[in-house]
Amino acid sequence: MAVPRNRHSNARKNSKRAHHAKKPKTCVSCNNCGESKLSHVICTKCGFYADRAVVTQEQS
Ligand SMILES: [Zn+2]
Repeated sequence: MAVPRNRHSNARKNSKRAHHAKKPKTCVSCNNCGESKLSHVICTKCGFYADRAVVTQEQS
């Protein structure tokens, strides 16, 4: 395994990590029920994705 030749300073380490912040998740509204949901994920309320039912709820 490669071993670093020189120690990086705290400033260099911190400036490298300046781009590591998490981005907020993208929320969109469902085309079927209008509920806010994560983009590219099926709707947790109605089970629709790309305007068709992918998951149907069991009747209980
Ligand atoms: Zn929905």
